[in-house]
Amino acid sequence: QPLLEVINVEKEYVSSAGLFGRNTTFKAVDDVSFKIYEGETLGLVGESGCGKSTLGNAILQLDKATAGKILYRGTDLTKLSPKDIRTLRKEIQIIFQDPYSSLNPRITVGKAIMEPMQVHKLYKNDNERREKVIEILNRVGLGEEHYNRYPHEFSGGQRQRIGIARTIALQPKLIVCDESVSALDISVQAQVLNLLNELKENFGFTYIFISHDLAVVKYMSDQVLVMNKGKIEEMNEADALYEHP
Ligand code: ADP
Ligand code: ADP
Repeated sequence: QPLLEVINVEKEYVSSAGLFGRNTTFKAVDDVSFKIYEGETLGLVGESGCGKSTLGNAILQLDKATAGKILYRGTDLTKLSPKDIRTLRKEIQIIFQDPYSSLNPRITVGKAIMEPMQVHKLYKNDNERREKVIEILNRVGLGEEHYNRYPHEFSGGQRQRIGIARTIALQPKLIVCDESVSALDISVQAQVLNLLNELKENFGFTYIFISHDLAVVKYMSDQVLVMNKGKIEEMNEADALYEHP
């Protein structure tokens, strides 16, 4: 059984700017289907505006697909109640692009990483959680000496490591990385990509890796989907993928 199966998913937006006040619709995601097996990394590449984030958000249930099914271990996520979706959030996580806006400036790094564990009632008590946070800080290459520091004291790459630490604190199964390194300098990008690969080897994560950058997607992925205007234009092994000029 695939970990995730996306079947004929569509996201239609309505804009009311049509002639004579007529509503026009357009499909940001148009009849997309694919499967991911556990431990795989699936790349999603395409020009800005082709629908990558919309598809990612639909998978995460941050935004509802207007048609199609999204099966996670056989369960159709599009049919779940908000409560069940919240429970599932533990297993399906996202790492966003912007490491600056996603952290609360008034919360220490240690607390920020502990917070999702508390929300989902992971581990017995805060002492145990604290130990886990320290373990994770070391794992993502930050070190426990950063526990009581605030986000503004960190560089972009370090902040992205904090974001990754928050995400893996929940031991998710599936992680959607949406332009997770695009805001970083090239050399820092490589470090964060290598961290993601290392974490995958250690914890067996399955990634959906979204980026406009084909080289980055090929580096990270087993299978790659090329998106164009909401549709899957090509689906191939990363090694076999044609490099468009
Ligand atoms: P990508 O992630 O590939 O850059 P997006 O998924 O962000 O692309 O956007 C796909 C298309 O959907 C774009 O044309 C964008 O303008 C449009 N779009 C995204 N969100 C909305 C929205 N909330 N309402 C209307 N159109 C949207
Ligand atoms: P807030 O306190 O406003 O929720 P957070 O620091 O918890 O801020 O999250 C920052 C951003 O990341 C928000 O946009 C939030 O919606 C998003 N986010 C946090 N956790 C998750 C998650 N598990 N899955 C998807 N989005 C998340």
